[in-house]
Amino acid sequence: MTISNPLLDFSDLPLFDRIRPNDVSPAMDALLSEVNMALEAVTSPAFPAEWNAIASTLDVATEKLSRAWGAVSHLNSVADTPELRAAYNAVLPKVIEFWTRLGADERLYAKYKAIDAAHLNTEQRQAHKNAVRNFVLSGAELTGAAKERFTKIQERQAELSQKFSENALDATDGFAHYAKEGELSGMPADAVQTAREEAAFEEKEGYKLTLKMPSYLPVMQFADSSAVREILYRAYSTRASDQAPAEFSQFDNSSVIREILALRLEEAQLLGYRNYGEVSVVAKMAKSPEEVVIFLRELAHRARPYAEKDVADLHAFAAQHMALQDPQPWDYAYIAEKLKEARYSFSEQEVKQYFTAPKVLAGLFKIIETLFEVNIRNDTAPVWKSGVEFFRIERAGQLVGQFYLDQPARTGKRGGAWMDDVRARWLRPDTGKLQTPVAHLVCNFADGVGGKPALLSHDDVTTLFHEFGHGLHHLMSQINERDVAGISGVEWDAVELPSQFMENFCWEWDVLKHMTAHVDTGEPLPRELFDKMLAGKNFQSGMQTLRQVELSLFDMLLHTSYNATADVMALLNEVRNEIAVIKAPAYSRTAHTFSHIFSGGYAAGYYSYKWAEVLSADAYAAFEEAAHTAASDSTVSVATGRKYRNTILEVGGSRPAMESFKAFRGREPSIDALMRHQGMAQ
Ligand SMILES: [Zn+2]
Repeated sequence: MTISNPLLDFSDLPLFDRIRPNDVSPAMDALLSEVNMALEAVTSPAFPAEWNAIASTLDVATEKLSRAWGAVSHLNSVADTPELRAAYNAVLPKVIEFWTRLGADERLYAKYKAIDAAHLNTEQRQAHKNAVRNFVLSGAELTGAAKERFTKIQERQAELSQKFSENALDATDGFAHYAKEGELSGMPADAVQTAREEAAFEEKEGYKLTLKMPSYLPVMQFADSSAVREILYRAYSTRASDQAPAEFSQFDNSSVIREILALRLEEAQLLGYRNYGEVSVVAKMAKSPEEVVIFLRELAHRARPYAEKDVADLHAFAAQHMALQDPQPWDYAYIAEKLKEARYSFSEQEVKQYFTAPKVLAGLFKIIETLFEVNIRNDTAPVWKSGVEFFRIERAGQLVGQFYLDQPARTGKRGGAWMDDVRARWLRPDTGKLQTPVAHLVCNFADGVGGKPALLSHDDVTTLFHEFGHGLHHLMSQINERDVAGISGVEWDAVELPSQFMENFCWEWDVLKHMTAHVDTGEPLPRELFDKMLAGKNFQSGMQTLRQVELSLFDMLLHTSYNATADVMALLNEVRNEIAVIKAPAYSRTAHTFSHIFSGGYAAGYYSYKWAEVLSADAYAAFEEAAHTAASDSTVSVATGRKYRNTILEVGGSRPAMESFKAFRGREPSIDALMRHQGMAQ
């Protein structure tokens, strides 16, 4: 039989050049029926409770589903058309329904529980442990009324988080202030023009200012009128709350927040925990909510003197240069822009001339090849657009992994940058052969103009390094068990370690001077310009750290201390009094639009950002230490790179992240390196 549907060909790489919208529905229907049959087979009473037997039936089928659906989703993100989007949306609910049902299947849970872990190798044991844990957190141990209630709680929570984000969105979109001629002095010309056009579009006089970032930010940073800034600041910080004007009262999230918190507490108690904070850390690197709280308070303690100095600098500058003696909350961003300009002004446009895409990529590849003892070569594969590149990574002539690189921005391509897996490293239970990993690396860089190569901003370069960090975590894996290979099974608060780690190289003079060449003259980045960039990098890092700590601490305390009589605003005020260096007005309602924790999956997990930053900075510090002791003075140290690769990248999720970190550093993580990197050390 010849396979005519390209989505059903699993012989090697996806046939991206042949997949058509009409292929999606028949292929996914066939694969869904296959996975359903596999699920029925492995859950039948006669089926053996053995890891390999389940894997070669169920995992082989679900892997096909993931790979085919992954190809469709990928095309939907990078080469969208109305036909493909329709085909994607038609199938999406069926795919979600299957994964949800699989994750809660009691028969499958019983089968996994019956597996004798003594017969598993260490990788399988970790994958098995994760699988059982996920079932338990999905309520698989509950029975009778408790189970019914658990399901009801899940459904209601999904509705509430949807309601929360709709309220936040509608409150943001609902507000507009029409400014008069002359009220926008100081603002960038493009922002003023957009405001004028938006008002004209509604046949209104003046300039339309809104709470959406492209409008709100330039006002807060640049508008000379304190009165206009105050109007927008107040509207922004009371969105979706009881403090908003009466016309927006239908968007008030107060009761939504209380119901979400009450349901999370009930869910935690049904699962046998004291609070939701305890549930959140079960699958994370942090051992307990208390450990997170101690971590955040130490970070605040260390950052406080620097944050106080940041505020003092702003006050002094405002008094001396702006005749502003008593700054209000809506003045700080404005003062900060003026201070930044006075201290560190350099042109982003000038910096860009030195970062041509091919030179940057060659520099990045060189670092990877040296640090991780591999070769990166051009390779061929079916692609979705011309200009998409494909590479293979080899070590000593052996294939390690392959990746697609899709750099240019274009119509039909989702914005931003990301890494995604095409397939994972897996010693396949069906064929006994080793499958090598494949990844997507996607960015959105502007094309070159006038026949010149594309020019990248320093932010673009950092993004590229970040995504390659995720990619290397996936591709360098030496683990044979799919669900703990690469980034699979890695604790959520540790998954950004390899990505943020790579960003550090973008701030090394030694690296940048080899990675830059002026687009016209070929000269490397001047040292003087680099020093200015470096000085500006840590501007207000003390204040920014405390702001992140404030949100993280509020999130964790809210999810550990909430009960029926709790007062959310009182807790927020307590945290502000403890942490913040700039006093928020009494009307400010940050919680009411804190979408990360009420509709974004970060509940009792917002601290993860700072947590992973500590890990990546401390890991990178090992390379700085190596540079100090080596004759070359370079952080691109082969010996340290090998150790990092062996202890962190190659082992992926096959053991706890803390074990991997300790194997690399010889000790537990320390905050010191992050403080130093952000200019907060003596
Ligand atoms: Zn990332």
